[in-house]
Amino acid sequence: MTDCIFCKIIKGEIPKKFVYKDNDLVAFYDINPKAPVHVLIVPRKHIESLREIKEEDKDLMGKLMLVVKQIAEKLGIAKEGYKVVINNGRVSGQLVFHLHLHLLGGWKDKADWNV
Ligand code: 5GP
Ligand code: ZN
Repeated sequence: MTDCIFCKIIKGEIPKKFVYKDNDLVAFYDINPKAPVHVLIVPRKHIESLREIKEEDKDLMGKLMLVVKQIAEKLGIAKEGYKVVINNGRVSGQLVFHLHLHLLGGWKDKADWNV
């Protein structure tokens, strides 16, 4: 998608330091963090939201979960605890219509952000 900000980041058209990168997924820090550690994990494939996932995306969605786990461990937030959030659709607060998972953590004590 040419006018999608996350597609542009994935293609390298907008310079970004990646926390993680493979053939299916990329991860980078959110520009407007809502937790001490706030990373977005984004499939390279342009899928608008969970409403649009198909049977063929099963492996990709499974991998997404395993990569969240891996990144949380790598960033040292796994032991204390973290949240994962996927906003879907306008009223959920979805702003970027390219499926992405928010990994939020790094709080010293109980999270100051509740769902
Ligand atoms: P949503 O509300 O769609 O679930 O989340 C979109 C997230 O993307 C927001 O938390 C917003 O701060 C982040 N974001 C939007 N544009 C950019 C950008 O250009 N770079 C980065 N790193 N994050 C972005
Ligand atoms: Zn996109």
